[in-house]
Amino acid sequence: MPNCYFCEKEPREYWGGYWCEGCRKIKNLANVYGFDRVLTILTECCIRNEDQLEKKILARQGKELNPKITDEKTEFYLRRKSDRIKENKENNNK
Ligand SMILES: [Zn+2]
Repeated sequence: MPNCYFCEKEPREYWGGYWCEGCRKIKNLANVYGFDRVLTILTECCIRNEDQLEKKILARQGKELNPKITDEKTEFYLRRKSDRIKENKENNNK
């Protein structure tokens, strides 16, 4: 079976087709939500800049050194201090 035209790795679903199973699902999602929307989601959510990557690496290293650090705590401390203060004020006003 020849390879998928999109990912160029997986075999195509069937002889007359162009896509593998996974890529066809991606294509179907893009047909439903729109290719521009899917591209925006991929760009905004999956592509991280150097600063974001560095924070993620530091967070992982911190967790390895201290197993008591949970993902929630890590996310909390990685958020900007001003955001945390604002969030705490909102919680106190409830
Ligand atoms: Zn594919």
